Amino acid sequence: VTEHDERHVLSFNTHMAVELAFLGAAGTVTGSRTLVIYKQKNYLVDCGLFQGPKTLRELNWKKFEPDPSTVSAVFLTHAHLDHSGYLPKFYREGFRGKIYCSQGTLDLCRILLADSAKLMAEDAKYANETRHSKHYPALPLYTIEEVEKVLELFYPLEKKHWHTINNEFDICLIHSGHITGACSIELQFKIENEIKSLVFSGDVGHDRSNTVRGPESPESCDALVIESTYGNREHEKVSVDELLAEIANRTFKRGGTLMIPAFAVGRTQEILRLIRKLEDQGKIPKVPVILDSPMANSATKVFMAHPDDHQKGCSFTGNESCLFPSLFEVSLSTDESFVACMREGPLVIIAGAGMVNGGRILHHLKYRLPDPKHTVLFVGFQAESSKGEYLQKNAKTLGNVRIHHKEIPVEAEVATLPALSAHGDYNDLIEWISKIKNKPKRIFCNHGQAEAIEEFSKKIGDSFKIRTHPVLEPRAYRLFEKNGSQHE
Ligand SMILES: [Zn+2]
Repeated sequence: VTEHDERHVLSFNTHMAVELAFLGAAGTVTGSRTLVIYKQKNYLVDCGLFQGPKTLRELNWKKFEPDPSTVSAVFLTHAHLDHSGYLPKFYREGFRGKIYCSQGTLDLCRILLADSAKLMAEDAKYANETRHSKHYPALPLYTIEEVEKVLELFYPLEKKHWHTINNEFDICLIHSGHITGACSIELQFKIENEIKSLVFSGDVGHDRSNTVRGPESPESCDALVIESTYGNREHEKVSVDELLAEIANRTFKRGGTLMIPAFAVGRTQEILRLIRKLEDQGKIPKVPVILDSPMANSATKVFMAHPDDHQKGCSFTGNESCLFPSLFEVSLSTDESFVACMREGPLVIIAGAGMVNGGRILHHLKYRLPDPKHTVLFVGFQAESSKGEYLQKNAKTLGNVRIHHKEIPVEAEVATLPALSAHGDYNDLIEWISKIKNKPKRIFCNHGQAEAIEEFSKKIGDSFKIRTHPVLEPRAYRLFEKNGSQHE
């Protein structure tokens, strides 16, 4: 890779079009994998895991087409597993090219891919012990050794600079909000002496976060691939600050503990910052806040190492960091976690897993759910049939929840803090497009449920008078053909 500030002009003639093939995140929100074929070479934008229902997860076991050994490079928008989590399997299947992304994305991938391999090993072990899998022995999709190998292929790129790949085309990373390191990716190709640019939005954030800086739009592009997660929805306009203060205050008044199941990356840092902000404003008292998650602690360190990704006006680095609540503690060992379980309130405990499907939060819930003075507060999306969703929707009416093979009575308060999504909603996505000075001629809407993709595609087609393509299933398109014919 050579780096330069000027837009690079290639010296040889090219005549080929660019082929774009959506292999995943087509009519669904996971398995982001988009193939870009240029001058007969394969490149992949994102290499994500399919997650959620079993029918989707099973796709991770299928052999990747085309053969990963034929893929020259991977470009990653960000570290979430639905965008990066297939990489170790990709390595196992023969990929040996480079993986380009921001430094923040590399730092988070170290944490998230290692955790992913660890959970897969635990699942396989559990399946073998209980013989509940139809495959015996059940095997993990990949191992920690494969994670370590694939991490050696990473090559971080500076943002907002043009870099040349294989002497053939240029790439630029543009801050997209969402989480630390997240970027849109702009690729520039030379097609018959004309520069054509193709932008992948990646997951787009918004400017209401207390931690991550809002997204930047590209200057211009000829074709755009945009995510549609909230393409047909608006986030609830509630005051998250006020709501959190109310819930915290009534819990503390009861002498209770506020238990927050949180995702290590993003949501944990946002919650810590919110608590500190409310303390500084005198809206909640200063009580001990325990981060009971080694993984979230590592993710917080990565967050602090990338000040460029932060909201301005508040320093999250150094001793003066305004990220941490006044009485902040981290519990790393399982002994410390056990001690935290026994602590008397008022207290805040933040522990994973975010959807309560495992992790240290289970111990806290098991111990405290039977007591009405405590509160469990959901701050993130709870997937269908997760324990979190059950607790959120049914546990109060049904009266109990099963944790570690025991029925636990649910007397504690169950609350939800909405509107903390790291994704922009419909209005944010429209605003992001409207800030592109030279609008694309074609827009591909992917990464969403079918209804979201369809509605979003129609709406942007109408409002910007741009040809749009709802990507509802895996399929390929040809871009930038000289004669103007648009084969699909
Ligand atoms: Zn994401």
